[in-house]
Amino acid sequence: MKFAVLKETAASERRVAATPETVRKLIGLGASIAVEAGAGETASIHDSEYEAAGATLGDRSTILKGAEVVLAVQGPEPASLTGVAPGALVVASLNPFAERARVDAYAAAGVDALAMEFMPRITRAQSMDILSSQSNLAGYKAVLDAAAEYGRAFPMMMTAAGTIPAARVFVMGVGVAGLQAIATARRLGAIVSATDVRPAVKEQIESLGAKAIFVEDEETQAAETAGGYAKEMSDAYKAKQAEMVSSHIAKQDIVVTTALIPGRPAPRLITDAQVASMKPGSVIVDLAVEQGGNVEGAVPGEVVERHGVRIVGHRNVPSRLAADASAFFARNLYNFLAAFWDAEARGLVLPDDDEIVRGVRLTKNGKVVNERLTAG
Ligand code: NAD
Repeated sequence: MKFAVLKETAASERRVAATPETVRKLIGLGASIAVEAGAGETASIHDSEYEAAGATLGDRSTILKGAEVVLAVQGPEPASLTGVAPGALVVASLNPFAERARVDAYAAAGVDALAMEFMPRITRAQSMDILSSQSNLAGYKAVLDAAAEYGRAFPMMMTAAGTIPAARVFVMGVGVAGLQAIATARRLGAIVSATDVRPAVKEQIESLGAKAIFVEDEETQAAETAGGYAKEMSDAYKAKQAEMVSSHIAKQDIVVTTALIPGRPAPRLITDAQVASMKPGSVIVDLAVEQGGNVEGAVPGEVVERHGVRIVGHRNVPSRLAADASAFFARNLYNFLAAFWDAEARGLVLPDDDEIVRGVRLTKNGKVVNERLTAG
């Protein structure tokens, strides 16, 4: 089976969907791999390393000729996939809700698109889950970005020149990114507190040595979906949460927000007035800035200053750690491909009744087939 690995074209994208390690493993399964020249450059991987792993290198039109599987980090424009085999698979992060028109275009082009961020949250699929692997790095990097913008130290320091207090870090939204942000801030010596809408997270926050700050009511008991994600909360809950945040946030030096609700804009957690209540020199990192933002005034791709507080809105934070993020992403893709590899057929077999296939498949035989897109 012929695979093509694309060089990413988006401005803020430095990752690559295959590494020499996964190229070697895919070839071990029986695949042949063509990598677009320069695909790994921004993730510190030279073309020669792909060649040494057994891949061929070429320009985009050459590598796509007859390709049956196209691997990418972000979904390529359907029109750019000229020359691929009929019914070719595109395996990538496809942002299906926001890029719905592109999903339709994949169907129209007869390409079978698999959205890796739709991977079901089941034990069998854990090693294939790009959202987890990338969020983990984003949570870590968010704290380092905060530390870089902050004009003070994180740990308490007792020196001959006097003592400086530890920084106070508040993490809002404690999924994969939030947990890693808590762990990273703790390692740097900060005093950490955190909040979420899902009560199950409380114990995890405390096990990392941070303080859990929660609005407790009947609604939070049902705040988690069967898939492990948060639901959108009621206005009454939001009002209680805002009151809790207002009294807590003014005492914080650093806030990291990560709150997301699948298929919906990110919930607004911090208002401009709450930003104004913080001490000058404080820093807020909004990891949800590209999904609409948790913080009023956050600007995608920029660090802005409001009321003396820096609001950090970097785009595509995992890509800021491109080498590690690529290594994780590529392994997630490999684990998925290997699980559905048929040794006899020397190719992929994707049964329609498999929970993972049903979860990630967006298009088939010219139609959009994913129930998360077709429902309602
Ligand atoms: P996410 O990126 O969708 O959201 C980040 C966090 O924001 C979540 O914890 C969510 O509850 C929280 N949030 C949403 N609205 C909020 C609000 N209004 N106020 C405060 N917080 C809010 O979440 P995620 O990182 O993808 O993780 C969700 C859960 O799924 C976690 O418990 C994680 O451990 C679990 N998970 C399971 C698997 C698996 O079993 N295979 C894989 C990955 C993650």
